[in-house]
Amino acid sequence: MYQLPEFTHNSTLSKIAILTSGGDSPGMNPAIRALVRTANKFDIEVVGVHRGYAGLIEEDFESLGNRSVSGLCHRGGTHLRSARCLSFHQSETRSKAAEILHKHQIDALVVIGGDGSLTGAHLLAQEHNIRVIGLPGTIDNDIFGTDDSIGFDTAVTTAVEAVDKISDTAASHDRHFLVEVMGRNSGALATQVALAAGAEMVIIPEHKKGIQEVSQMLAESRREGGESSGIIVVAEGGQTGWSYKLLEELQALGEDPRVCILGHLQRGGAPTAHDRILAATLGNCAIHYLLSGIDNVMVGINAGAVDTTPLVDVISARKSLDMANLTLIEELQR
Ligand code: ADP
Repeated sequence: MYQLPEFTHNSTLSKIAILTSGGDSPGMNPAIRALVRTANKFDIEVVGVHRGYAGLIEEDFESLGNRSVSGLCHRGGTHLRSARCLSFHQSETRSKAAEILHKHQIDALVVIGGDGSLTGAHLLAQEHNIRVIGLPGTIDNDIFGTDDSIGFDTAVTTAVEAVDKISDTAASHDRHFLVEVMGRNSGALATQVALAAGAEMVIIPEHKKGIQEVSQMLAESRREGGESSGIIVVAEGGQTGWSYKLLEELQALGEDPRVCILGHLQRGGAPTAHDRILAATLGNCAIHYLLSGIDNVMVGINAGAVDTTPLVDVISARKSLDMANLTLIEELQR
């Protein structure tokens, strides 16, 4: 449970639109449900926009009522579907989007997505005075202004389950595995997975390890005799398959670990209870913030409390990883 703010409603809303954009993340569905159910309590009509900004400019809409969001809590993915819409980088497309929102008399737009999607939302607000509010939806947990993001906990849980399985075969064959997890610019996912799965090492974009350091760890692990299996968690760092390059370099040094790329399975599956609670809380609060006259912000979690951060700060600052976590992982190694 999170600490909730006290709201003073001073703004009226008749109709809002909701979209999910960019990479999907488990928990987007319970967020949609919470937005719709809360809006309904305050007699606000809700338009669901299909396929992110692409659906917005094509007016691919669906009316969302209480019943249409029944049974969404435990479903992964996003009922509204998601997409990348490259043309939204152009101001003409955003003007068209603003015209469409005016035409449909939509008072505010809720965007659930990563920093790219929130950038689009901020530009819409800045250029066209549209009321927007963002929810952090990404398995990367790399968004500035929130300790947590919708989908992160589920992705960590899914990846840990996979690593546990790989560990069984690694132990049976006395092998090391490079397990590549997602994480565009952030090692947050890789670090949590490494810690939870008891990995020997983690390689992340914020702290790339030299190849010598990796091969030395493998050699030392072998020298100890007996056990020589283990897991090295590698963050893809925006380059899926990057661990194959690492493998080539290790093979040149006489090592021969196996590679397993977890890929899109990390995005799927039912959201964990943690992500459902986060999504429900942020979705509910987003409506209350809008009714309190607050917009052009992202609703997130800071030190256990629901809080807002201006979108301009969210998109211009980088979230940094607490490097002490790397030391923690190292201190737990054999
Ligand atoms: P995420 O939201 O998960 O970070 P992307 O970076 O792919 O995913 O962004 C999703 C969508 O958000 C893009 O396809 C585009 O429609 C919109 N978007 C991203 N960056 C910008 C930008 N700089 N300006 C306008 N729209 C953007």
